[in-house]
Amino acid sequence: MTDNDVITQDNTQMHTGRTMSIINTVEEMQAQFTRMQALSRSQPMNDWYERETQLDNLELLLSDNQEQISKSISEDFGYRSQSETQFAELFPSFTGISHAKKHGKKWMKPQRMPISALYRPAHNEIQPQPLGLVGIMVPWNYPLFLAIGPMIDAIAAGNRIMIKMSEAAPKFAETFAKLVAHYFSPDMVSVVLGEVEIAEEFSKLPFDHLLYTGSTAVGKKIMAAAAPNLTPVTLELGGKSPVIVLEGANLEAAVNRVMMGKTLNAGQTCIAPDYVLIQRKHHDEFIRLAREWMDKHYPDIENNPDYSRIINGSQFKRVQGYIDSLQGQGVYPLTDISSNTETRLMPPVVVVEPTSGSDVMKNEIFAPVLPLMHYETLNDAISFVNARPRPLALYVFGDNNSDIDRVRSNTVSGGLCINEVILHVVQHDLPFGGVGHSGTGAYHGKAGFERLSHMKPVFVQTKLNGMNFLLPPYGGFFKKAMGMFLK
Ligand code: NAD
Repeated sequence: MTDNDVITQDNTQMHTGRTMSIINTVEEMQAQFTRMQALSRSQPMNDWYERETQLDNLELLLSDNQEQISKSISEDFGYRSQSETQFAELFPSFTGISHAKKHGKKWMKPQRMPISALYRPAHNEIQPQPLGLVGIMVPWNYPLFLAIGPMIDAIAAGNRIMIKMSEAAPKFAETFAKLVAHYFSPDMVSVVLGEVEIAEEFSKLPFDHLLYTGSTAVGKKIMAAAAPNLTPVTLELGGKSPVIVLEGANLEAAVNRVMMGKTLNAGQTCIAPDYVLIQRKHHDEFIRLAREWMDKHYPDIENNPDYSRIINGSQFKRVQGYIDSLQGQGVYPLTDISSNTETRLMPPVVVVEPTSGSDVMKNEIFAPVLPLMHYETLNDAISFVNARPRPLALYVFGDNNSDIDRVRSNTVSGGLCINEVILHVVQHDLPFGGVGHSGTGAYHGKAGFERLSHMKPVFVQTKLNGMNFLLPPYGGFFKKAMGMFLK
């Protein structure tokens, strides 16, 4: 079957009498919401087999259409490396599905919990239940993985799903909507397309949970829109993720990983290293090694098929503006090629010691621009991080365990990698999320299952009920019992 066959065999027709897979207007969206919410109440997905079947559908959607998916993402970016789409979108999506299929049946079983001797022989349980209808809002930078990741958790937890795709990646959004329509019943998953206006209306729907991935600025609007409905939110936001290069660190190893993180998807990664804290004496060497790294890994960057473009003209202009405002103040290109407005090619640059008031230090960069900030003592570096909003990720490079422990214990970030960048996001055994301005709530794997379930506490009484001795009129036994417990 070709990719086109998949699309033309779209099975939306089968379902149009009831619910709709692809939604383009606010009216359609509201009607679909009402129908899906009603279904989530009348037919909760309590059976693992049903959930597993939906995870199989998701896996098939991906495996049958990899090329088409990569192609449409690339069209949105003006060019996105197919290998990057495989490595950073398809691969973690497949492994996430396998993980949920392997463990989901166990996650959804009621769990026996401890109980105080005072209440025995009664017992305690936690019973995970589907929340119902979950809303998912997707950004443009990894539009596949950031749709699939939340979908895996929502499905494993037995929910129905409405997804709003990003208007900044419209080709992929349309492709994905058609694929969802083909592989899922619209009773299960529907996809909303359109601009910010429909996104605003989407965020006002009284979902049982709303999982939003995107900027911190819009995250605040999402939380405000959800508040009148008391809709619980998971906000996967952005911010500036620092790297601390410790005294005595192997610089070559640090540069290798930092540059990998800064060039992947041309720096448009929420957990890309944003800036590096490094001792002044190492900065020349850092830049030399970074240039060497670029020569080795991205030779002939203009024609190199592994290097992606900046998503659109306005993002390109924003970042080029940051660089232009620093000209003559320590800007070090890492290649001999200049950025190109027309093709939106932006080769990486290092900027040394920009001021705190500069755009690159005030904003999340989200592009291949890497500030090097100098520190004297480790305390200075830790204070620098702690004086700013809690980062989504923090990276520390070095071999001195006591220094690593100081960073680990004295900074608070969504996640931490030691001698690595980014890889914590693909650990399905770890929760992923931010803290403070970088996000609220975490998902992935079991954490995501629990986030999108109601973990209902259940107390099970037996026939032998000791509480019957504590009924009014409160007599001598009651007084003795209270005397023992009330100090
Ligand atoms: P975006 O512009 O694509 O927006 C994300 C979603 O918000 C889209 O679905 C869009 O339709 C919707 N939206 C936009 N404006 C809205 C509004 N006013 N009201 C309601 N909805 C609205 O993406 P973006 O925000 O530019 O994405 C980049 C940001 O996302 C960066 O800050 C990045 O760090 C962050 N990000 C975070 C993660 C994470 O997992 N924490 C992952 C990827 C990206």
